[in-house]
Amino acid sequence: MSYDYMCKFIIIGDTGVGKTCLLLQFTNKRFQPVHDLTIGSEFGYRTVTVDAHPIKFQIWDTAGQETFRSITRSYYRGAAGVLLVYDITRRGTFNHVASWLEDVQQHVSRNMSIILIGNKCDLDDKRAISKEEGQQFAQEHGLLFLEVSAKTAENVEEAFIKTAANILQKI
Ligand code: GDP
Ligand code: MG
Repeated sequence: MSYDYMCKFIIIGDTGVGKTCLLLQFTNKRFQPVHDLTIGSEFGYRTVTVDAHPIKFQIWDTAGQETFRSITRSYYRGAAGVLLVYDITRRGTFNHVASWLEDVQQHVSRNMSIILIGNKCDLDDKRAISKEEGQQFAQEHGLLFLEVSAKTAENVEEAFIKTAANILQKI
């Protein structure tokens, strides 16, 4: 499939928030609940039309690197879109969002589109962070925001499209 733009997207956030599941849901359209942390696929691709432009998404997964807070400069290099993910059922993962944001800003000088993602919204009964709290953090830091579920696929495609649309506005 031909495309107008290729965009590098990276997915960051604490271990276990669902980064790999989000990548697999977006690229394979299915939920793979169990996978080996260390041999997770490092890339995924999918072409989606955004505002009448076919965009080829090249999505990078940390594949376990984040455990050691050792995400390399090359991971960030050239990224146009960033998915910064927390787990709505674990407060600790939300508390770390600010330091992940610092890490992004340290590594990247150019203007990127960053979306804050509250994943696992299918687990509403176990929720530890309200949607409003997530929304407020995003607003204060100039980030896009969505709650999604990599399990049910709710808002997963929307998250990528919303971020790509924001990137297109800057081109
Ligand atoms: P990563 O370490 O950030 O890459 O997280 P994973 O993608 O490996 O997911 C961690 C765990 O959360 C796995 O057990 C997944 O099955 C589970 N998980 C991921 N996304 C969701 C979701 O949207 N809903 C639910 N209920 N579980 C999820
Ligand atoms: Mg992973």
